[in-house]
Amino acid sequence: MRIDLHTHSSVSDGTDAPAALVAKAAAAGLDAVALTDHDTFDGLAEAHAAGPAAGVEVLGGLEMSTERGGNAVHLLGYGCRTDDPALLAELARLRDARDDRVPRMVARLGELGMPLTVEDVLAEARDTPSVGRPHVADALVRKGYVANRDEAFDSWLADGGPAYVERYQTPLEDAIALVRGAGGVPVLAHPWSRGRRADLPEEVLAELVREHGLAGLEADHPDHDAATRAALHAIADRLGVLATGSSDYHGLGKTNNPLGACVTDPAVYADIVRRVAEG
Ligand code: AMP
Ligand code: ZN
Ligand code: FE
Ligand code: FE
Repeated sequence: MRIDLHTHSSVSDGTDAPAALVAKAAAAGLDAVALTDHDTFDGLAEAHAAGPAAGVEVLGGLEMSTERGGNAVHLLGYGCRTDDPALLAELARLRDARDDRVPRMVARLGELGMPLTVEDVLAEARDTPSVGRPHVADALVRKGYVANRDEAFDSWLADGGPAYVERYQTPLEDAIALVRGAGGVPVLAHPWSRGRRADLPEEVLAELVREHGLAGLEADHPDHDAATRAALHAIADRLGVLATGSSDYHGLGKTNNPLGACVTDPAVYADIVRRVAEG
């Protein structure tokens, strides 16, 4: 069984509609896929509906924007009840903060000599409720200011970059509690990507597991090199938590992340599915 537990559709910042993503997962030889859009469940119904015809198991998920010590941390949640009031309220707060950030980013980019409008960004975001920096990047590409999303991030939009603008993100410990409270399984996304290693050393990961109920670490991810993957697998073993793997597929939005670029062990997937069923 080949299982990819972290993908994004056009309901957040990917480029495939949920049903198309599920069909592509089948074509890529996957047996199971989790849709984990940023801060929204809106794509899950379409993805679930597309599963049987494609012959792919679809696991409902999300990727929450969280922070710890002022640093951005992404939390995957699998199998959450999508009508949990506390979790839904927090996701709405996160999306409101995304909306609030757009005019501030647009103003900043104007100061940096790249005039564009909020409408330019929203045109790229289309029907997503979760507008993000990738949509700002797409607007910059369309204006001809940069060649692609990567250049937009590397030159301007990356955390701490010249056009970076902060937004509210849920404290990580609270996000773990919300996912658990909704019957979901919380797994830390790409824990050591892009300089996060210093913010999330083993002692911190251990505390998140023991005191807050973190259930797993996404060890195999395209942003992790071989040594990082091995180190995270070893930590997951020591802490007695799940080690997952996934592509973080974004369609055309991230060309280094094809579906199935990294995969999850079938026994780990079965464990997640069992925990979700137990609520
Ligand atoms: P936001 O959700 O608005 O904070 O934007 C973060 C999103 O941008 C994440 O989903 C990342 O996957 C994406 N991202 C970060 N760096 C890049 C990059 N170099 N190219 C494309 N997408 C990126
Ligand atoms: Zn994304
Ligand atoms: Fe992420
Ligand atoms: Fe992601």
